[in-house]
Amino acid sequence: MTRYEPECIFCKIAAGHIPASLIYKNDHVAAFHDLNPVAPVHVLIIPLEHIASLSELKDGDSEIAAQILLAARVVAEKTGVLESGYRLVFNNGEDALQSVGHIHAHLIGGKTMGWPPFAGREVAHGEE
Ligand code: AMP
Ligand code: ZN
Repeated sequence: MTRYEPECIFCKIAAGHIPASLIYKNDHVAAFHDLNPVAPVHVLIIPLEHIASLSELKDGDSEIAAQILLAARVVAEKTGVLESGYRLVFNNGEDALQSVGHIHAHLIGGKTMGWPPFAGREVAHGEE
């Protein structure tokens, strides 16, 4: 049975109830441009079913998990970063600053990135 959370913004996007700049959709996942891009290419890949975070993935969700990763290649190709490179990021939980409680992979590319990903912000665990 499909999991749908009426208050979840990404469930609404997955169901087509609110608009998004969709670039790919199949029976398992949807991909759309992030509203606040951090790079020339910044696409979110979400499962159509509501799963709050990677930590909530169950053994039976292996097809969904695989489909998110497989969609990354399609999105990279469609956005022109397949050859130049891209990063796939899952923010999971508080320390990772996950702000939307529906699994989403950020596919980011179109510029050279840094590593590690702390952007000059060194904050000890649990501090603001
Ligand atoms: P995270 O902080 O990892 O939970 O990322 C959530 C992302 O969702 C942020 O980059 C937001 O800019 C993006 N976002 C939130 N609402 C929307 C929306 N309606 N359409 C597209 N992107 C969104
Ligand atoms: Zn949801």
